[in-house]
Amino acid sequence: MTYRGRFAPSPTGRLHFGSLVAAVASYTDALHHQGEWLLRFDDVDETRTLPGAVDGILTTLDAFGFEWSAEPASQSDRVDLYQAILDRLLTEDLAFYCGCSRKEIEAVGRPGTDGPLYPGTCRNGLPRGKRPRSIRLRVENKTVRFVDRFAGPVQQNVAQQIGDFVIRRADGFAAYQLAVVVDDSIENITHVVRGADLLESTPRQLYLQQQLGFTYPVYGHIPLVRDACGKKLSKDDAARALTLNNPLPSLLAAWQFLGQVSLASDITHVSEFWSEATRLWSPARVPIATGEV
Ligand SMILES: [Zn+2]
Repeated sequence: MTYRGRFAPSPTGRLHFGSLVAAVASYTDALHHQGEWLLRFDDVDETRTLPGAVDGILTTLDAFGFEWSAEPASQSDRVDLYQAILDRLLTEDLAFYCGCSRKEIEAVGRPGTDGPLYPGTCRNGLPRGKRPRSIRLRVENKTVRFVDRFAGPVQQNVAQQIGDFVIRRADGFAAYQLAVVVDDSIENITHVVRGADLLESTPRQLYLQQQLGFTYPVYGHIPLVRDACGKKLSKDDAARALTLNNPLPSLLAAWQFLGQVSLASDITHVSEFWSEATRLWSPARVPIATGEV
């Protein structure tokens, strides 16, 4: 089996335990399947990139014993490619310019899974007096279904639950949904293992892949690491940044969080952790991520 996985952090801060869990899951799954594992920096919105964050993430991953199969890619290097795909979708009338502000949509859009549904104002051309702001994908009324490796069957009617969604933002940046689909396609990613916060947007990505004629990766969403209040850990929470001088306890904690069998107690080095983890990794033991779609 060909296996190409990836880890795609945003360089907006330091890695924390939640990002480590996602990295451990995707890396171990790749190693277990004798696959490749790529790194990509999700920095499509360059204004959010924190100076030094890319180097910090690379240093952290290196200290934790991760090895990537190729030079890391960056979304900020692919602006022209995203634009070419946007142009293609517009030419094929699969997407349209929208001149609505967030306020206008909030005023009339009925509630959806991810904010108010787009009311369709500019679907058939920009109304008089409106200038183009964003680009939206034209979404038809059909249900997207897939089976997530860890979360089980997922279905979503993107039109009814999300609406025509933004693929180029009003600030000119490609939207995450478009960038990630293009990235996974040109990198020939076969398996996506990531946090369950992205489970809800996966049907949008499948929809886009279908419109663009791309192949679908296999998806697996792992449960999110939450703080004591039930909130997803964020990069802003500096206190939870990983310490580099003693990576083993964090690796073992990530392994345990992923529901895996206990490793030999005499592991003293990260290389022993990775060889044991590769051998013993059991996707069936990953806890089910629920409540995200
Ligand atoms: Zn509009």
